[in-house]
Order: sequence, then C-alpha cells, then structure tokens
Amino acid sequence: MRLAALLAPGSEGSRLHLETNDGYVSVDELAAASGVTQLRGLADVSALFSRGDEAVAALSALDPLEVAPVAGPVGFAPPVRRPSKIICVGLNYAAHVEESRTSRPERILLFSKYPSCLVGHEGTIELPAATRELDYEGELAVVIGRRAKGVQAEDALGFVGGFTIINDVTARDLQEAEPQWVRGKALDTFAPLGPVVVDTASAPPIRDMHIRTLVNGELRQDASCALMITPVPELIAYISAGITLEPGDIIATGTPAGVAFGMEHPVYLAEGDTVAVEIAGVGTLVSHIATARAQR
Ligand code: MG
Repeated sequence: MRLAALLAPGSEGSRLHLETNDGYVSVDELAAASGVTQLRGLADVSALFSRGDEAVAALSALDPLEVAPVAGPVGFAPPVRRPSKIICVGLNYAAHVEESRTSRPERILLFSKYPSCLVGHEGTIELPAATRELDYEGELAVVIGRRAKGVQAEDALGFVGGFTIINDVTARDLQEAEPQWVRGKALDTFAPLGPVVVDTASAPPIRDMHIRTLVNGELRQDASCALMITPVPELIAYISAGITLEPGDIIATGTPAGVAFGMEHPVYLAEGDTVAVEIAGVGTLVSHIATARAQR
C-alpha cells in the first residue's frame, strides 16, 4: 500500500488516502463502502499504525477500485503529522563522512528534529534570516509500525510499518558554530516528509533502494541505501535499547555524499530553488525554498 495524508480542503486537517494508479482514494469512503468501521476517521499514517496490525491488514484487504479517486488537485500533508519522535542518524555513509572533512564517529551519531519541522510534498522550506548556508540532505525515512523497546536487530524490521523520504534540511553555519545541532537541524520546515509511506509489504528491500537528490533539476546526490554504515535493523536495535519507539515515529537514516557543504565551492539553497529527493519504489519528495515570513 502507498499511504498519503491529504489536506482536507479549507482546513489544516488531513485524511488518510491510498495512492492508486488512477489517483488518491479516500480511506474514509473506502471504509464506509465496505463497512469496515475500524478504518474510519484516520487522519494520517500514524493513526493507521496505532490501530494495530489488524487495521493495516484490513485496509490492505480492501479493493480501492470500489471508490472513485479524488477529483482535481490534491494537497499533501506530511504522511505522519505529529510523530512523538523524529530521530536522525548523522554520518551514516562513508562518502558523506569524507566530504564532511571529518572522521567516522566511534558510536552511532543521533540527533533529533521536532514535529514543527515537518512539511509535506510540494511544501515550502523557509529560508530563515539566521542562516546563510541552507543545505539539503536526501534520506530514507523509516516509519515505525509497532511499539518497539529493546528490540534485537534480527527482529527489528518487524517493527517497521513502512518507508518514506525525508529531507534533513540543515543550516550548515549554525550546525558548525553550535555544539548542539538543535538550531542547525530543527528550525521550522527543516523536515519535508513524503509524499507517501510505502508499507513494508509493498516496499522494495532497503538494499535495492537508491537515493537521488536534484536541485533545480541538477543531480547532486546519487547513491544506494545499501551503503549505509549502520543498516536499519541495527539502528532500530541501538535506538530502541533506551528509547521506546511508537507507531508513526520517524528514523532518518542519514544522507549519502553530494550535499552543498561538501562542494569545493558550496552552492547553498536560495529563494526560488526546488529540491527533489527520489527513492525509486518509494516516491519523489519535492520542496520549494522561500524566505521565511515575518512573525504573524
Ligand atoms: Mg542527515
């Protein structure tokens, strides 16, 4: 299944939809048409995963062709609206370690973003006045499907609900100047997510996933997810050893080489730029850069 949270017209709210070859089908309408009450009222993917494996199985058993797809243009919310955690992995590809002119960390490097960082597909990354070095990091995002605590690596993929794409947007000057990365990594709009979550039954194996990031159509990042230094099962084991992962929580698995910071003469993101992060079999996440608006 390919799961999207589409914005409800005229509101900040969203409703869960299934992406089909013909468009996006409302899960509410599908649930009503089929009489499956446990699938009613789902705003996003974490709401589905929070209802448990039975709800996921019930949805995947339905035929989306029973309902007409949404007519007209759709607006994308992040497929998970308010995850309890967004945990990010730093320096998880050797070529990115090298371009960052640093050495491979002795331990897995983790940092956090906040739900206030999230924006959906075709959303705006706000270029804040606080930075002159706005950078992109295309990454595979793991979406947790079942509560995970103390999980062993060999069991870890069983706790994954699906996969999506995240852009780990970074203010490089703030990241470099400040010992903690809160401002460098977690300003508003610094985590575009989506467009859809592909559930584990439909997703290709991680080793077959491939990340490409394009800025204004120019290829900047191009690497296989098989090159992660610490693979996803070990990341989940490491994190869940001390932190309970809840359905809908996000793990950003690190970026490959090709960020602006790694260039000899970095070309950072500027107003009007468009960033696209693609993972074949998962989707393409597009974001637009605009100067942050004044406080309202
Ligand atoms: Mg990153």
